[in-house]
Amino acid sequence: MCVAELGVKYKSNSQVARVVSENWCAAQMYCPACSSDALTAAANNFPGVDFTCPACSSVYQLKSRKGIIGRRINDSGYEAMLRAIRSEQVPNLLLLQYSSLWSVINLLLIPSFFFTESTIEKRKPLTDRAQRAGWVGCNILLDNVPVDGRIPIIKDGVVTNRTAVRRAYSRVSQFNELKGDVRGWTLDVLNISRKLNRQELSLSDFYTFEQHLQNLHPSNKNIRAKIRQQLQVLRDMGYLAFEGSGRYSVLR
Ligand SMILES: [Zn+2]
Repeated sequence: MCVAELGVKYKSNSQVARVVSENWCAAQMYCPACSSDALTAAANNFPGVDFTCPACSSVYQLKSRKGIIGRRINDSGYEAMLRAIRSEQVPNLLLLQYSSLWSVINLLLIPSFFFTESTIEKRKPLTDRAQRAGWVGCNILLDNVPVDGRIPIIKDGVVTNRTAVRRAYSRVSQFNELKGDVRGWTLDVLNISRKLNRQELSLSDFYTFEQHLQNLHPSNKNIRAKIRQQLQVLRDMGYLAFEGSGRYSVLR
């Protein structure tokens, strides 16, 4: 079906975009979490889930847009997202950017277990004039997702090799084994090590992000102890080596 025909059937441009990108994924997408070379469109009665894997049952949500994928992504209701994070019910997210000619420019995968409370922010309530006055949505903060959890499937029009995508997913899947609250902290500290972007790091490098972590975890009274604890978790996971005297080597 060509886009012009879709334009007749669906009135708004965003509806066309939705249909085109869903059709594209149904035809082209595979499961990054296993060896399945197809995903199945989900039934309409699963809100927030667009595709499921017929082999491993992984679930995927698709968000598509014409503009560049920025640092903030509009998402669902804040409280609903918080509940989904706390109960580990967030789907894997596929972020798709299409061109004005409907080709896919970028497609980014964020595995479900990278969604923690640090990765969302509360938006202002809708005004009284809005249809859903008082409703509070949230944004996904991509900067707070470590680069390990932003897996490019298509980057600037270039398709990443399927095996490389699956390898990238498999490499980070050990984070899925951590419990929610611990995982949130571990990923926050991993994100800092990625932002520092050096092979050799010191404890004081991590401490420069103390205020940032305090903002993400306002009720925590001892951020520095938490940093040290999470450095041990990352060491045990093989991401860092302790070199003594508060020095670390990044291994991955
Ligand atoms: Zn699968």
